[in-house]
This record gives sequence, structure tokens and C-alpha cells, in this order.
Amino acid sequence: MMLGSSKIVVIGGGIAGLCAGVYAQTCGYQAEVLEQHTTAGGLATSWKRGDYRFETCIHWLVGSSREGLLNAQWREVFDIDRLTFHYAEEYQRVESDGGRSLRVYSNVDRMEAEFMREAPGDADEIKAFTAAIRVLADLPMQDLINGSWRRRAWAMLRLAPRLPLLQHWAAMSAANYGKCFKSDLLRRFFGDSGTAEMSVIALVFMFAWMNRSNAGYPIGGSKAIIDLVVERFRASGGTLRTDVKVEKIIVENDVATGVHLANGETIVADWVISAADGHAAIYDLLGGEYKSDSVDRLYAEQPVFPSYVQVSLGVAQDLSKEPGHLAHILGEPLQVDPQTALTTVTFRIFHYDPTFAPPGKTAITCFLPTFNFAYWVALQRNDPARYEAEKSRIADAVVAVLVRRLPGLRERIETVDVSTPATVIRFTGNWKGSMEGFLPTPGSLFASRRQTLPGLGRLLRVGQWVSPGGGLPTGLMTARAAIQSICRQDGVPFLPQATARTNGHAA
Ligand SMILES: Cc1cc2nc3c(=O)[nH]c(=O)nc-3n(C[C@H](O)[C@H](O)[C@H](O)COP(=O)(O)OP(=O)(O)OC[C@H]3O[C@@H](n4cnc5c(N)ncnc54)[C@H](O)[C@@H]3O)c2cc1C
Repeated sequence: MMLGSSKIVVIGGGIAGLCAGVYAQTCGYQAEVLEQHTTAGGLATSWKRGDYRFETCIHWLVGSSREGLLNAQWREVFDIDRLTFHYAEEYQRVESDGGRSLRVYSNVDRMEAEFMREAPGDADEIKAFTAAIRVLADLPMQDLINGSWRRRAWAMLRLAPRLPLLQHWAAMSAANYGKCFKSDLLRRFFGDSGTAEMSVIALVFMFAWMNRSNAGYPIGGSKAIIDLVVERFRASGGTLRTDVKVEKIIVENDVATGVHLANGETIVADWVISAADGHAAIYDLLGGEYKSDSVDRLYAEQPVFPSYVQVSLGVAQDLSKEPGHLAHILGEPLQVDPQTALTTVTFRIFHYDPTFAPPGKTAITCFLPTFNFAYWVALQRNDPARYEAEKSRIADAVVAVLVRRLPGLRERIETVDVSTPATVIRFTGNWKGSMEGFLPTPGSLFASRRQTLPGLGRLLRVGQWVSPGGGLPTGLMTARAAIQSICRQDGVPFLPQATARTNGHAA
């Protein structure tokens, strides 16, 4: 194949599509990323309202530490050294209306001490949980994913004795695990969230990465990451087009050959990568022509991460003494929609990100998970006045919760913004408005999804619908694997500069 002559068209300019674009360019392809929204980023986004910027995505980026898992791969797609990471001492503070509180520290030793203070009667369970974090924190995951065969073999040897432990934690949902605790605060911490059906091992991994300071929050939020990936993509000669919606994937003789856009344009390509919503790609863009019973079953049966209502508040107050992440247990449930009553609401108080508000002011967001996306979409379409009224009702309820904790805050609120599942669907097209794709439930956690579709050539899928658990790392890893597979099939070296460097020929 002649390098530079082959074209890859990428549908979707979220993190996965952008990473695929960078890898494609680095390997000598001409990549064109097509994004339906006016800006790139997909779910990894934030928006400006007056003095404030409201983040909707990033809590932490796995791979933030130079020595940590995935850091080397992030370097392949953007200059991660230009980010400043914030490492919160407290991952979350759990508080009840009655004034009780529990600090969930990022450091496992402090977490254990605090849990034991709160719940000495749960000592055995606390010790088992924190021991699992320590074990996972010490596993050589980077070698397992991307080491030389020698390092991988050594890592496998170290992993083997830990497999029963991994299976033990993978087999249990967070909801069921919460029931193991006598302490109400610990029960609620583990069991009371929109993702409680998730395997508890996802939490163990998360704390393992935090304990290793490899899951930092990037100052500037997800936009800071996306801007840097876009910069690398454009600098490498890639084309990013926004405001262009793909309507159909063109297939000739069971081979993907390009895309039709909603504006009537046709783009011909040697390879098509779908980095858009998984369901829409299979059932709409390809008209359901290339699927199997297992694909149908997956979309019919596998639980997904919830969608969410987000209430964002701009407050003219310095809140730097408050926790950055607060889970507030309510005396009375908060009714989000007819099917969703929440007994815990979580706040992010962004005092640690100076780019989100002027000095002395603070951006706050409240995340309210709901699976009732259809209600919000129908309300927005059929009854816009009630849609607005419902948004105001929820904002008022959220403010009332916050004011109980921070009296005097109401008078200092300068900006109120409410987004709903209808917003998520409108701006990203994600199925059911899901925040992260398929939920890694017990049993599905290590299930790898094919990046191809049965019977269809030259099309690969990347992003949060390809690997349970979603998140930015999934976008990176599936994009890397897709371009690696394309290079293999075309007989082209994958990441030629990196290969040259490791061979001693500095690029
Ligand atoms: C509240 C919240 C908190 C989160 N917290 C974290 C976190 O702390 N850490 C973490 O790593 N991840 C987090 N995530 C998850 C992470 O944001 C997502 O998993 C990830 O951004 C998904 O990337 P993606 O590229 O797979 O999909 P998307 O971001 O959905 O990108 C798909 C893109 O395709 C475009 N598109 C769709 N259809 C078409 C079409 N027909 N034509 C053209 N373009 C199209 C969409 O507009 C979109 O831009 C969070 C997400 C949410 C919502």
C-alpha cells in the first residue's frame, strides 16, 4: 500500500474518534473525522454560562501519572505534560441530612482508618476491601496491556495467583456489596448510586488507580484534554469537520466504502471507523444489515450506564473549604421524573479548578442519574413549557438541599443551568442518553466486544460501546487497537516513529 494515499473516514469526533484520527495520521493514513455537533468532544465536554464553565464529564483521567497505566498511550495522542492534574485527598464526602459524615480518602491507608472509625463493626469487610485495593494497585497492568513478551509473561505470572481474588470481586455488584455493611453510611456509599448494578471490582480498580495517583483531574476539565488531542490531530495533517452528520455508511459487496452525509455529500474511503453511538451505527447507519443474534441480545439485555439530569450553579462565593465531591443522603427522596426518586444526590464543587469561575466564585454541578430518557425526550418534544417547568422544579429542589448545608448560598447564585437526557441525546446521539455505554456488570466485565461487525469488511468500531465500562481510556484503547488492526491488514508498520525510536533510530 502507498502510505499517504489511503483514506480513513471516522464517524464521530468524541475522544475515541479523535484518538483514531491521530493514530491513523501517525501511521501515514489520511484521516477525516466527521462530527455532527459544532464542537468536538462528544460526552467529554463542558459549557460556558456567564462567568462560569460547567463540566459534565471528567472526574479523573486514568493514566495521569508518568509511571502509571496508560500514560504512555496518552502520550501517543496528545501532549499530556501540558495538563496540570489535581489529586484530591478526599475522593468523596458522604453526608446525611442528620449531619453525620464519612470521608472517603483516595489514599487506601487513610480510607481504611476512616472507615474503621466510622464502622468498627464492619472491620472484616473493610479490611478485605482495602486489601483488594492494595493488591490491584501493585499489579503490573501496563506490562499486561502493552509490555514486551518478556514483561507480559512476567506480569501474567504475577497475576495468576491473584485471579481467584479478581473473580471474587468481579462477581459481585456494588448494590449487593453495600448490603454487607452494617454502617448506614458505608451501605449507602457502595449501594446507592445510578450505577449500583456495576461490578464492585470497578470500584476496587478506581481506588487502586487513585491510591497510585494515576487518576488525576485535569485542570480545565475534559475540554483541556480534547483541545490537545484536536491540536495534535490537526498538526499531523488530519481533517476535523464539525456540523456534519453522517446519515448512512455506504457498503458495496459487503465492504464499507464511505459515508453519505445529511447535507447530501458523499465521502469515499478505504476504511470506515464508527466512533459514534454503537446502537445507531448498527441499526441506523447500516440499517441493521450487519449484525448477529448476539449483537441483538447485547442491545436488548445488557444494562447500560444511566443518563442524567445535571443542575449546574454559578455561585459568587469562595467554597474552597468545602469537599470537592459531596454525596448527600436525603431524608426525603428527590423526585427527578415519574420513575426516578433519588435518596442520595452528588455535588461537584469545583473550587479546585480556577478556570471554571473567577476568583471568589465557584462552579457547582449536581448529577442526578435517571434511566427514564424517553420521558425527557417526549417532554421536550411535546410540551416545551412543561419541560422548562420541570427543569426549574428540579433546580429548586437541588438548591434547597444545598442551602440546608450552606445557608446563605441562595442569595449568591448567579447562574442556573439544567441539562437533561434529551440534551445528551441531542448533542451526542448516545443510545438511551447513556453517560458511558454498557455497564460492566458481574459476568460482563471481561467480555470483549468485537470491533468488527459480522460479514462486513473494512469497518471497525471504537469507543464506549465497544468495551463495557466506557470512559476516556476505552476510547483511547479501542482506537489504538482499530488502527493497529488496519495497519496489520494493509501491511503497514503501526506507529513507525515509535518503532524507529525503540530500534535506536530517533525519529
Ligand atoms: C457525567 C459523566 C461523567 C463521566 N466521568 C468520566 C471520568 O471521570 N473519566 C472518564 O474517563 N470518563 C468519564 N465519563 C465517560 C466519558 O465521557 C465517555 O465514556 C467518553 O467520552 C465516550 O467517548 P466516545 O468517543 O466513545 O463517545 P462520544 O463522546 O459519545 O462521542 C461520539 C461522537 O460521535 C458524534 N456522532 C454521533 N453520531 C454521529 C453521526 N451520525 N455523524 C457524525 N457524528 C456523530 C457525537 O456527536 C459525539 O461527538 C463520564 C461521562 C459522563 C457523562
